[in-house]
Amino acid sequence: MHEVHTAKNILKMAKAEADLRGLSSIRSIRVRIGAWTGIDIDHLRHDFQTVAPTISLHVEPVEPSARCEDCGADFEPKPGSLNCDKCGSRKVTLNQEKDIELVGVE
Ligand SMILES: [Zn+2]
Ligand SMILES: [Zn+2]
Repeated sequence: MHEVHTAKNILKMAKAEADLRGLSSIRSIRVRIGAWTGIDIDHLRHDFQTVAPTISLHVEPVEPSARCEDCGADFEPKPGSLNCDKCGSRKVTLNQEKDIELVGVE
C-alpha cells in the first residue's frame, strides 16, 4: 500500500504550522508516528520524497503504552496481548496514541 496520502497529510500539517510561525519555506519536518497505526515508515519516507523532494522527513516511531487498573503499572503492551506485565490482570487501559504528531518544522 502506498503512503502518499499520509505524506500529503504530513505536508499539510507542516504547512499550517509554518504559516502560523511565518516560515517562508520548509526544509525539514519531524513527526512521531504510532507504531500500531500500520503506517509503513520506510515506504512513507520514500513517498514523501516524491511528494516533497526538497524537504527532509524525520520519523520517530512511538511505541504504545498501557496502564493496569489493578496494580497501576505502566507498561508496553505486546501486539495481541494486553495482560499486565506485573500482575497479569486483564483490566488494562491502552493509552490513546495519536496516529501522527507533528513535533518540528524548520
Ligand atoms: Zn508508494
Ligand atoms: Zn497489574
